[in-house]
Amino acid sequence: LKFCQELPKIELHAHLNGSLSDETLNKLLRRGPTNNSYASTIIGKGERRTMQEGFEMFRILHEIVVSPEIVVEVTKDVITDFALDQVKYLELRSTPRNVLSSGMTKRSYMEAVLTAIQRYREENEDRCRIDVRYLPSIDRSKSVEEAHETVKLAEEFSLSTNGNLVVGVDFSGNPHANDGADYIPPMMQARRANLHLAVHMAEVEGKKEETKKLLELLPDRIGHGTFISNEPGVRDVVLKKRIPLEVCVTSNIKTCTVPEDHTKHHFTWWRQEHQHPCIVGTDDKGIFATSLSNEYSIAAGALGLSRRETFNWSKEAIDHVFADIDTKSRLRQTWDDYWKSNL
Ligand code: IMP
Repeated sequence: LKFCQELPKIELHAHLNGSLSDETLNKLLRRGPTNNSYASTIIGKGERRTMQEGFEMFRILHEIVVSPEIVVEVTKDVITDFALDQVKYLELRSTPRNVLSSGMTKRSYMEAVLTAIQRYREENEDRCRIDVRYLPSIDRSKSVEEAHETVKLAEEFSLSTNGNLVVGVDFSGNPHANDGADYIPPMMQARRANLHLAVHMAEVEGKKEETKKLLELLPDRIGHGTFISNEPGVRDVVLKKRIPLEVCVTSNIKTCTVPEDHTKHHFTWWRQEHQHPCIVGTDDKGIFATSLSNEYSIAAGALGLSRRETFNWSKEAIDHVFADIDTKSRLRQTWDDYWKSNL
């Protein structure tokens, strides 16, 4: 674990509100008596939960993170947590929400996330260097119309930040909700606007038809893809196109979609049998009480990787970031410098 803690890392699969640390949550809960009743449900989150219980937790978190000011604060906290864990590049995803009580709109939510990224950068110039990008999320439990609104805003903010901060769109939400294929039109719109696509798919069993249709989008990365390896028809497309899988071992175990034995997690099949690109991520480090270092330690342990191989794996993630070529070159230099100084 110590080696993985010091290793420079790339985090590409982190949902903002699922990533709040206990410290951040306690800080917010202490402020408002109305929120105190939630504390016992949220704190002490490490245990195993069903997926439904996990989504109930998000509902509670959304009742706490209700204003642009809080969004700025929690986003900065989450960036700081990742930077302290030696994450050098972070793609943070989050669903813009309208909250009537505070007057927060999808637009002010997104502005708040971007403000936090910029403020973190200004306040930490050379210390704790971390590049952060934002992927607005489409929540499949909400309407297709809302998805279109999110994509429209993503497009607008991508342009206004010269493609440097909003670099893609995430498709996520409760995998049991609605038909994922209904959200293809807004995702196609995102594609036309030069936004990258990170698409959750086959996170639960029995979604073959939906997965097949979502794959026609040729997403740039697949979130989880837990049950793809069981389905030859869809599996072969992913293998042939070498679409990278974002792998979140602890999250999958805690939501009971994979066995507890790490060596039986689907990513071992993709990597060992096919040398398929897999990127280690946390998903919701707060909800599942984990860190990216911990996920690397588990994943490298399951494959029996040496230090050099683990380093190469974390460096390989640079190939799959949604940032520009200059950022990728800079990151590769950071990895090479680290290896030289730690030989
Ligand atoms: P937020 O988008 O920052 O509010 O982060 C929480 C949201 O991310 C949840 O409400 C879900 O829509 C999404 N999410 C987090 N974890 C998962 C997951 O494992 N599968 C699908 N969606 C997820």
